[in-house]
Amino acid sequence: MAAYSWIDHTFDVVVVGAGGSGLRSALGCAQAGLKTACISKVFPTRSHTVAAQGGISAALGNMGEDDWKWHMFDTVKGSDWLGDQDAIEYLTKNAPAAVYELEHWGVPFSRTEDGKIYQRAFGGMTRNFGEAPVQRTCAAADRTGHAMLHTMYGQSLRHAVDFFIEYIALDLIMENGVCRGVTAWKLDDGSLHRFRAQTVVLATGGYGRAYLSCTSAHTCTGDGGAMVLRAGLPLQDMEFVQFHPTGIFPAGCLITEGARGEGGYLTNSNGERFMERYAPTVKDLAPRDMVARAMTLEIREGRGVGPNKDHINLHLDHLDPKLLHERLPGISESAKVFAGVDVTRAPIPVLPTVHYNMGGIPTNYHGEVLTKVGGDPDSVVPGLMAVGEAACVSVHGANRLGSNSLIDLVVFGRAVGLRCGEKLKANASQPSLVKSAGEDHLARFDKFRNAKGATPTAKLRDKMQRAMQDTCAVYRTGPVLEEGVQRMAKLWVEAPDVRVTDRSMIWNTDLVETLEFDNLLAQSVVTVNGAANRTESRGAHAREDFPDRDDVNWMKHTLAWLDPANGAVKIDYRPVHSNTMTNEVEPIPPKKRVY
Ligand SMILES: Cc1cc2nc3c(=O)[nH]c(=O)nc-3n(C[C@H](O)[C@H](O)[C@H](O)COP(=O)(O)OP(=O)(O)OC[C@H]3O[C@@H](n4cnc5c(N)ncnc54)[C@H](O)[C@@H]3O)c2cc1C
Repeated sequence: MAAYSWIDHTFDVVVVGAGGSGLRSALGCAQAGLKTACISKVFPTRSHTVAAQGGISAALGNMGEDDWKWHMFDTVKGSDWLGDQDAIEYLTKNAPAAVYELEHWGVPFSRTEDGKIYQRAFGGMTRNFGEAPVQRTCAAADRTGHAMLHTMYGQSLRHAVDFFIEYIALDLIMENGVCRGVTAWKLDDGSLHRFRAQTVVLATGGYGRAYLSCTSAHTCTGDGGAMVLRAGLPLQDMEFVQFHPTGIFPAGCLITEGARGEGGYLTNSNGERFMERYAPTVKDLAPRDMVARAMTLEIREGRGVGPNKDHINLHLDHLDPKLLHERLPGISESAKVFAGVDVTRAPIPVLPTVHYNMGGIPTNYHGEVLTKVGGDPDSVVPGLMAVGEAACVSVHGANRLGSNSLIDLVVFGRAVGLRCGEKLKANASQPSLVKSAGEDHLARFDKFRNAKGATPTAKLRDKMQRAMQDTCAVYRTGPVLEEGVQRMAKLWVEAPDVRVTDRSMIWNTDLVETLEFDNLLAQSVVTVNGAANRTESRGAHAREDFPDRDDVNWMKHTLAWLDPANGAVKIDYRPVHSNTMTNEVEPIPPKKRVY
């Protein structure tokens, strides 16, 4: 192995990730007086949160009566009863304060006539426990994530968060089950860094890029999740992958659900508004899993649109052009660029596209990472926290409601800051790291840097993405999932034959992509194995061979460990928290989801 040397740093808290969840966590820790670093592989305002369009949910009641208890009910029902109800209570109850905080920091929300924060309708969000759609999603036109990210980056600088930008975090430094820090590679000068910290917070986002067609940025490779697997810890509920109903056909970029929230609707080749058949009460504003399935069925039964009958139409052409210009300017532009469509005149061609990972690093509602030790399914991993799409709190359960992710980022980012403020002492002395700390990280790094195999990374990645898209999509069946498990196992064996051509340490994107591919592969293996294992249908996991939800056997979280030596997956379970956090609300008993 080449000679490498470390540059060492010490912080109270190191946050990996500068998306909405990372920035809110770092900001909270800095406000608590803790010496806080934030590491990001891209410039903070280029994190995927910047692409969030439609908005952020909170029961403010600006557009009619609303109640956080209705928001809680919708989220539990949307999750198909896989969400933890204590965490969902925490989320929905704290949501309004989190939105007002963003407003006071300067997020330029769209406004109502009388100057309040504007709210639009979104899928699965209802009034009075499912009676009718409610306008609960706060929006800054269709650029809500952009507004949030820029505002929080400014606030983080104001509170003296120490940023390490364009650093690729490599792995967690673990000592006897305790997380002691993280290592990173700095892209612009090729130096290697060891960050020692009382607590590491993983805020690394989702792994949408495991699939061929997704709405996520190329950086969404789930690096934090893979670090957790390599540390011998489990990931939770990875089989639950959300397909967003309206990716532009065929490019895959997103048209926000807010488009339907503003009155848009879907039609098939007969011009029929088919969602009326599938969800008579809320129609086009049903949750995403149901809309994606309805679209898939329409296409399968020969009612798709286009010469190949392989997609669906989304209509905005009946809406006032002024409204489109004011509330949906970004997606009007995307439709023009990616589909050549003028939304005021013609429908947008759309198809369900991978959008969000409900699964991730298991945590409690303080953001502390959990594992199962002995009989304890909620055993806290000391020194390690996770937040945002990388984490699985689990508030989204088997299916996330639109606009519930942005609120998850800030509510639980804030919770991380509060917990660190409560548990950690600023500048507390930390034991030194063992001298060899990070050596195994370098061995992995060096192996890929000097990889001389026959297959370029891009080819391996393409194989993985196609296998995931073919075998682990909207509808799933046993034999096809088994094929997915086999294809992934084969790829695991082929992957060491990877070829990296650039050997340099500076801005080596070939190596970056290879490290990211390795991270994606680990999570793809776990995802497809989890999906093959779960013999029921719940939320986004729709098994044609097991069409019913099975609460007796399957109302439980999957935990999956990956053996890095051979790619074998070990599965165990954690109970769903069906209890609430306080006595203010009763637990919501499972029922069939009808909309
Ligand atoms: C197109 C699109 C539109 C969306 N619209 C909405 C919406 O309207 N409402 C809603 O609620 N949700 C929406 N979502 C979902 C939501 O935006 C995301 O789930 C959320 O923004 C994820 O935020 P995050 O902080 O967890 O991660 P991200 O914003 O993805 O940030 C991840 C961070 O981790 C860093 N990172 C990752 N790996 C490493 C590494 N190895 N080393 C160093 N840094 C690393 C990155 O640099 C980045 O800063 C949308 C998602 C997409 C893709």
